[in-house]
Amino acid sequence: MRKILFGLSSFVTDLLYRRPYFDAESSQRNKLENEILHLDLVITECCSLKCRDCSNLMQYYKHPENISSDEVISDLKKLTDCVRIRELNVLGGEPFVNQKTLCDVLCFLARECADRVDVINIITNGTIVPGEACINAMKEDNRIRVTLSNYGPLSTRQDELTRSLSDNGIGYQIIDDSFYWLDFGRPVYYSESPEFMNRQYRNCYNRKNCNTLYRGGFYVCPRQAHGIRLGLIPDDRDEYVDLNDSGFKGSEELRRAVISVVRRREHISACGYCINGKYIHVPRAVQEDRSRSLDADI
Ligand code: SF4
Repeated sequence: MRKILFGLSSFVTDLLYRRPYFDAESSQRNKLENEILHLDLVITECCSLKCRDCSNLMQYYKHPENISSDEVISDLKKLTDCVRIRELNVLGGEPFVNQKTLCDVLCFLARECADRVDVINIITNGTIVPGEACINAMKEDNRIRVTLSNYGPLSTRQDELTRSLSDNGIGYQIIDDSFYWLDFGRPVYYSESPEFMNRQYRNCYNRKNCNTLYRGGFYVCPRQAHGIRLGLIPDDRDEYVDLNDSGFKGSEELRRAVISVVRRREHISACGYCINGKYIHVPRAVQEDRSRSLDADI
């Protein structure tokens, strides 16, 4: 029934089932002074799939790179020195592409962030089975679980991966309950009204659940982070936190800046390059390159 309804009207069924206007964590988000509820940690721009409609814009990288352990750990250290993180989502791209950094980050989290991060969630598309070092790092820490996005035949090594996780006592979940993705659109300027952009921002899942740590920046959402990096979205420096900005005098100032991004009420410039608030559905994980006409040069 749900599938039929989704096929009939994406707008109505989104309002009924995904309930974007419902923000269960709003009061917590606005009360917590020293904690972030959810954080996406990007450890690579490389992915083993090339999804046409990836909302995080991975398909636009011409020369995607793995991010070094030193860089990721340095960012994470600065951030966890000023705020606790309830749920840390480690992702890419595909995080198992960059197993060296993943292992080092997991060791850092076990060694130095035992009481600064509650849950560690590694998000994978089920195409890569990590090697022994990575499995060992994951099984050392009972805060870690793996979330597999099940893209059917594209998730070629899902069974092998879940077997390996089970054999090693590592918790996992398989997510395959959504029939469609929301279309966030290509990262081009849409000339929507400020009212539309504010409503889209207010209801946005990513704004609520996916604040992003990436290459020294703490961002509202991954689309903003990668759009700026790719040069496809304006770099408005007052809309994210540069953790390496020498203007911050200590971790208290940094904490205040981070919390103000988490609680921001007005839409960001990136929302002008996004149409997820139109609730258009697209099939999941379609493998097709539509990046060619946009001139990202990295
Ligand atoms: S650009 Fe705006 S609307 Fe789009 S995902 Fe980011 S916060 Fe949400």
